[in-house]
Amino acid sequence: MNAKVDQQTQDFKKQQELDQEALNQRMGKIKQKIMVLSGKGGVGKSTVAANLAITLAQDGHQVGLLDVDIHGPSIPKLLGIEDQVPRMGQETIYPIEVATNIKVMSMGFLLRDKDMAVIWRGPLKMGAIKQFLKDVEWGELDYLIIDSPPGTGDEPLSVAQLIPNLDGAIVVTSPQDLSIIDVRKSITFCRQVKMPVLGVIENMSGLICPHCGKEIEVFKKGGGQRMAMEMNVPFLGMIPMDPQVVEASDKGVPFVSEYSETETARAFEGVIRTLLAGMGEPKNKESFSANKPEAEVSQKRDGATIKIAIPLAQGKLAMHFGHCEQFALVEVADGRIVQTTLANPPAHEPGVLPKWLHEQGANMIIAGGMGQRAQGHFEEHGIHVLIGAPSLTPDELVGKYLDGTLETGDNICDH
Ligand code: ADP
Repeated sequence: MNAKVDQQTQDFKKQQELDQEALNQRMGKIKQKIMVLSGKGGVGKSTVAANLAITLAQDGHQVGLLDVDIHGPSIPKLLGIEDQVPRMGQETIYPIEVATNIKVMSMGFLLRDKDMAVIWRGPLKMGAIKQFLKDVEWGELDYLIIDSPPGTGDEPLSVAQLIPNLDGAIVVTSPQDLSIIDVRKSITFCRQVKMPVLGVIENMSGLICPHCGKEIEVFKKGGGQRMAMEMNVPFLGMIPMDPQVVEASDKGVPFVSEYSETETARAFEGVIRTLLAGMGEPKNKESFSANKPEAEVSQKRDGATIKIAIPLAQGKLAMHFGHCEQFALVEVADGRIVQTTLANPPAHEPGVLPKWLHEQGANMIIAGGMGQRAQGHFEEHGIHVLIGAPSLTPDELVGKYLDGTLETGDNICDH
C-alpha cells in the first residue's frame, strides 16, 4: 500500500517537473512579461492592461494579453471579442488574434454562460493559470501583459510562482485613500514574492468638466503619486477620468487607438512611454532562461530614499504634535528601515518646525494629531503628513506603515 502511495507521489512530482519545464520553454520565447495589479476592483486595471497591449502593438511589437481574472474576466468585453471561441488542439489552445500582432487569452472565452459564477478553490485556479501559460500557443512575443484580478489572492500569487523571472508589476490605483490603502498591500505583496514594481499609475485622477473646462477633483488628486514616493517605487503618471473611456469600453473598442486625439489618450501614451523608458528595450530571449540575479532586481527597485519624522514623547509617538519632546527620523530605502536617529527640535514657534524638518531631509511625518493649518505648512515644504497614527515606537510605526498594516484613526488634535 505504502509503496503504491510512494509511486503515485513520485509520478505526481515528475509530472509537475515536466509541466514546469514545458511552461519555462513557452515563456522562454517571450521577452518581457508584465503583470498588472490593483488593490481594489474598478480602478481601471483591465482598461490599463488592454490599452498598454494596444499601444505596444501599435509600436510594432508582438504582444500577448492574458486575462487571469477567473471570476470576472473583462478583457474580451473591452476588446469587443467576447463571442470568440479559441481553437483547441490536442495539447494546445490557440489564442484569439486581434489585428495581426495581439494574441489574447481569457477565461471569458471558455465560459459558455457568461453570467455563471465560477467557484474554484486555489489549486484549481492555479491549474487553469498554468494551462494558460503552458498550453496556449503564444509563439514568439516581445511582451506578455497579464491582467490579474484585484487584490493579492491566488491568481497573482500563482503567476508569480509559475513565472519566477517575471519582469515586474504595474500597480493601478485611483487617488482616494480607500484605494491607496489597498494598493500598499499590492506593493508589499510584490516585495514578498521578489517581483520588481515597475511603477504606479494613478487612474481616474481629476475630471475635466465638459461644460466649463475646469478640473474637478472627484477622488482628489495626487494620492497615488504620494504613495509611490512613500513606498519608494516609480510613479508612471496620472490618467484623468474621462467619460469617453467608458464609452470605448462599453462599445468594445480600444480607447488609445479609437480616441487617439484626446488628452486622455495622450495621458495613457505618456504613462506607457515612462514605463517603457524605465524598462529598456525587450531583452534577448536567452536572458530569460535563468532567474535574474538579485542585484539586477534590486537595482530596478532603487530610487530616492524617504525620511519619516515622528514626534516623540517618552520614546513613543506623541499624540499631540505640539507636546513632542524629540523627533525620530527614520530613513527608509527600498521599502526597509535603514537608520533611525533622534533629534531635538528648536522652540515651537509658527513656521519654524516645517523649515527645520525640511532641513533634516524629512519628506513625511507620521503623527497622532495635527491642526489643518500646520499640515498645510508641512505640505508647502514638501513634507507629507499622515495623521491618526497610534502611540507606538518609531520602528513599530514605520514597520507597520511599510507593510501596509498601519491603521490610522481620527485626527485626535485638530486645532
Ligand atoms: P478594474 O480592472 O480595475 O476592475 P476596469 O478597467 O474594468 O477596472 O474599469 C472599470 C470601469 O471604469 C470601466 O467601465 C472603465 O471603462 C472605467 N474606467 C477606467 N478608466 C477610466 C478613466 N480613466 N475614466 C473613466 N472611466 C474609466
